[in-house]
Amino acid sequence: MNENYNMENLNKTPEQKKENKSILFENHKIELLSEEGAVEFGEEHIKKIEKVLNLFSENGLSPAKKFSEFESINNPDAKHRGGFLGSAHIGYGKSKELSAIIFYNYGMNTNKPHRISSSENFKGKGFVDNFSGTLAHELTHGGTTGEKFFDDYKFNREFIQEWREKFGWKYVRKNVKNEKTGRWEKAAPVEGWEKDKDGFWRNNDYIITREEYTTMPEKCIGGKRGYAASVSQQEDICDSVAAYLLNPSILDKEKREFLENKIKEYKQNYKSDNNS
Ligand SMILES: [Zn+2]
Repeated sequence: MNENYNMENLNKTPEQKKENKSILFENHKIELLSEEGAVEFGEEHIKKIEKVLNLFSENGLSPAKKFSEFESINNPDAKHRGGFLGSAHIGYGKSKELSAIIFYNYGMNTNKPHRISSSENFKGKGFVDNFSGTLAHELTHGGTTGEKFFDDYKFNREFIQEWREKFGWKYVRKNVKNEKTGRWEKAAPVEGWEKDKDGFWRNNDYIITREEYTTMPEKCIGGKRGYAASVSQQEDICDSVAAYLLNPSILDKEKREFLENKIKEYKQNYKSDNNS
């Protein structure tokens, strides 16, 4: 896998500064674009991209193939609902496909810690910089979000369903069919959950920003107050995979073992696919 690895910096004229770099990973090209006024992709970013893509690759995973652009935009203070500082999102690239990772100023930061290494209950277990953590997180979204991402990437529906059952992810309200009208409606919330004055669902001191919660928030990075447990299963998977690759000691033991076993399985399939 790694012998195919190659990286090129294409120097262009100043007029084309926005597109002055690209990387080639396993024969797949990813453009690095920086918006006017945004943090530019530098040597350090490229080294970190190389490291993160190799970590996925060593584990038989190839989410980078889903992306054609990494973009940096001038967005200094993107805040998630609930107050978490935003770092990046998956968006539409020049091809109009959902194939770009779009980094904000904070997401481009290589000195500050990513939340997986700064949360209270994981203090002192090592450092993961925000750019590397964000990149690994968004690449995992690429493997777990939406139909088009399921084909040759290995985090499939079965993986997501198993994670859901094993780590207690549930919805506060389910859609139920109104037999009279034939319409789908929101059911009453699960017992214990109610909306607070700020519009967040809460169950005593557990507050969530959407309608998903886990019965085991303590197994999430950052615990009950952390980003993953507060937002969704998707975020839990993405932060967990980022931690698994970049600093497994900060991950819950059962989640670590679950990923270890899945990845072992995928690696075997990956090998036999390549040999056939
Ligand atoms: Zn996310």
